[in-house]
Amino acid sequence: MQSSAAGCGDGEARPLSVEEALAVLLDGARPLSDTETIATRSAAGRVLAAPVVSSIDQPVWDNSAMDGYAVNAADAASRGGRLRVAQRIPAGSSGEPLVPGTAARIFTGAPVPPGADTVVMQEACGSDNEHVQVPADLTPGANIRRRGEDVHAGQALIGPGTRLGPQHLGLAASVGVAELSVVRRLRVAFVASGDELVMPGRPLGPGQIYNSNRFLFAALLEALGCEVIDLGIVVDRLDATMDALADGAARADLVLASGGVSVGDEDHVRPAVQRLGSLDLWRVSMRPGRPLAFGHIADTPFIGSPGNPVSLFVTFCLFARPFILRMQGVADDLTPSPLPVTADFDWPRPAKRREYQRARLERDADGRPLARIFPSRSSAALTSLTWANGLVVLDEGRALTAGETVPFIPFSELLG
Ligand code: AMP
Ligand code: MG
Repeated sequence: MQSSAAGCGDGEARPLSVEEALAVLLDGARPLSDTETIATRSAAGRVLAAPVVSSIDQPVWDNSAMDGYAVNAADAASRGGRLRVAQRIPAGSSGEPLVPGTAARIFTGAPVPPGADTVVMQEACGSDNEHVQVPADLTPGANIRRRGEDVHAGQALIGPGTRLGPQHLGLAASVGVAELSVVRRLRVAFVASGDELVMPGRPLGPGQIYNSNRFLFAALLEALGCEVIDLGIVVDRLDATMDALADGAARADLVLASGGVSVGDEDHVRPAVQRLGSLDLWRVSMRPGRPLAFGHIADTPFIGSPGNPVSLFVTFCLFARPFILRMQGVADDLTPSPLPVTADFDWPRPAKRREYQRARLERDADGRPLARIFPSRSSAALTSLTWANGLVVLDEGRALTAGETVPFIPFSELLG
């Protein structure tokens, strides 16, 4: 359980920097130890638990890199390049040893027959039914993919902690691996707190708004491969909030909440977590999304975000996502890598807090990437997120004029 002097409590202490908050958070993320064996076919997006080690060489044998003729270069040279085509080796078959004076018609991927040391591409040859004329200046070894040149038997190909993408599955399958040991899916429960919330599909009553956070939460979590438990909407009452959070903690590895983490009379998430376990409420020196709650309900970690959808989105991407990936056992560095891009806006007044501005990266006439920012800074404006394709990072105390370089984090780095 974390208790950091700075930033802890009800907002009196020094705010934490984004890096400090993330470091404390990641320190408290215990990776799951349960694993399961699943079909390689179904493993996209999962985190590998045991290394994939090849039991074979890849390629398995010397094979042809193109359609053409397999020859022995010295033998061909000694005969002026004219050879009898004595065999045909399509992919899926294997040839006979090459007899001097002959060539083998060969196709891409087919095994190079013993005695041949060169493949000549068919476009470079002249041929009639029985003979082929190959060029005089052959390079021995040309156009042959050597046995084991990509992978050798015993080689560890994919390490534990790797999030498996299509390329990993292709590689595992290429060495005959049909099943993989992966970390079991992380179960994440979430709750949307607020008396004002109504589900889409119902009419809005006075003072009511639609519960958009539920849809953000569910899709963000599913993109990370989590098993999602929707605890629904919880009204602004302490007992109801405690019930929902306790239920989530009993069923999930991690509980998330939106709303109710401030210190207002109607904010019951904070006291509910304090009663059920322990909570640090951090002021993180960033915008949007200043209050961030982290704690435990019994033994289950808890992260609470502000209710405004944009704050939820940004704090999820910057904090909950790396926390989830760490719990899933992902070994990589979890800080996003911003790209340097050219600002197409002025930022004349340096802010005290770091700003993550919703930004849109476009190309100018010369193809240079230019970042624009959304005109409104409201963290309730969801249109800003559908307009944007990433976030620009405006460091604490930094002013900026158009044309300067600014870090840009594409949404592709933050989602999924
Ligand atoms: P809170 O953090 O509870 O003070 O909420 C901050 C703002 O976010 C308020 O305007 C809420 O109405 C809004 N909000 C809270 N929860 C949601 C939600 N699930 N969907 C959309 N807006 C929300
Ligand atoms: Mg509220």
